[in-house]
Amino acid sequence: MKPVRTRFAPSPTGFLHIGGARTALFSWAYARRHGGKFILRIEDTDVARSTPEAVQAILDGMAWLDLTHDEGPFYQMQRMDRYKEVIQQMLAAGTAYYCYTTKEELDALRAEQEAQKIKPRYDGRWRPEEGKPLPTPPAGVPPVVRFKNPKGGTVAWDDAVKGRIEFANEELDDLIIARADGTPTYNFCVCVDDWDMGITQVIRGDDHVNNTPRQINILKALGAEVPTYAHLSMILGDDGAKLSKRHGAVSVMQYEEDGFLPEAVINYLARLGWSHGDDEIFSRQQLVEWFDLDHITASAAQFNTEKLLWLNQHYMKQTPPAELAAKVKQRLAARGVDTSHGPDLEKAVALYVDRCNTLNVLADAVEVFYVHVTPHADLLAQHLSDEARPALADFAAGIADVAWEAPAINALIKETVTKHGLKMPKLAMPLRVILTGQAQTPSVDAVIALIGREGVLAALKNNL
Ligand code: GLU
Repeated sequence: MKPVRTRFAPSPTGFLHIGGARTALFSWAYARRHGGKFILRIEDTDVARSTPEAVQAILDGMAWLDLTHDEGPFYQMQRMDRYKEVIQQMLAAGTAYYCYTTKEELDALRAEQEAQKIKPRYDGRWRPEEGKPLPTPPAGVPPVVRFKNPKGGTVAWDDAVKGRIEFANEELDDLIIARADGTPTYNFCVCVDDWDMGITQVIRGDDHVNNTPRQINILKALGAEVPTYAHLSMILGDDGAKLSKRHGAVSVMQYEEDGFLPEAVINYLARLGWSHGDDEIFSRQQLVEWFDLDHITASAAQFNTEKLLWLNQHYMKQTPPAELAAKVKQRLAARGVDTSHGPDLEKAVALYVDRCNTLNVLADAVEVFYVHVTPHADLLAQHLSDEARPALADFAAGIADVAWEAPAINALIKETVTKHGLKMPKLAMPLRVILTGQAQTPSVDAVIALIGREGVLAALKNNL
């Protein structure tokens, strides 16, 4: 078998979106699975829409997901000489020809075909055929170059995802491969690149299915080996409609901003249209061991934000506390919250991670330990009853010299409520609100232990 070479070939006209990232991931995983090479190619020939910012956004997204390429990035705009060279070779070989049809003539042809209710297409008037006399090239009309598409028969391939796909050559007119100004056109550049880069598997979105028969015909005319094609079905949003900006975060880097871990996004994207039995959680390493084209589903995959959040929480829990703390620290610092004073951030995130599914939610949760908390008066009034005040005062006295660990603090809480004839929440709830400004927290003894004696005493003093 030939060494595997796959590529990701984004057009830099926007950020790296979820669909593009999945294409990149599948191409990357396939190359890694087979010990092959993964190539990054930037298809920037649409100069009006391509921007350096978009190139950077793609590189940033790939770097965040840690999808490293082995070769490239290659830029199509830097390969113009090569495309022009191949066009000359095709002209010489007779697989392409000059066409001098003017725009006016094409418009007239189209109008005529529409009147006859036939599909508008180039009629091949400049196409050389044996024994066919060609018109004399008109003066002053710069010609385009057209590909001499095979006449008759079919062009077919066994798509690794969609199965056999066949097009009649009749359906394909002679594609313009170079414009009148000499610039090569999109489908042609893709062919030359896939050929030059020795691509063995083309994994891409199924919006390219209609380009494939043209590309196969051109590759064959070049004497190139035709790669395997795997066309991925589109991704639908949570609501079943085609994934779009309406669905919120569709840029990969938006997920970074929203507090997702790249491991979670990778795991999630891998399952978006591909499966390995019933496995939902697997590492990047396992993905590389398991990935194949046979288990990509032909039907559209539906985005499921809940599942992504679930995976994200899983990976957050798997992250060593020191590492998790470092990530949360960064996010808090960006909000101007200094975590160098106050409780040990590592302990804080460990205490809260079970109830948080993004880094941002975790940062929100632990932020209260590093800023001055003023409980909302209504919330405090709701939870702090008059009967609880003396109990809280007693508790404050008690913690001045209790052993500073959750079990001892817990014992003191129990002792205090028993002494005052109260139910546990009567004391625990106002403590929560006073210490964190929130009515929902992990176990209150753990929160107290985390904050530290001085902090707890100060907060009680301020609020009683
Ligand atoms: N540049 C194309 C795109 O962004 C991909 C082309 C291909 O993979 O062949 O949709």
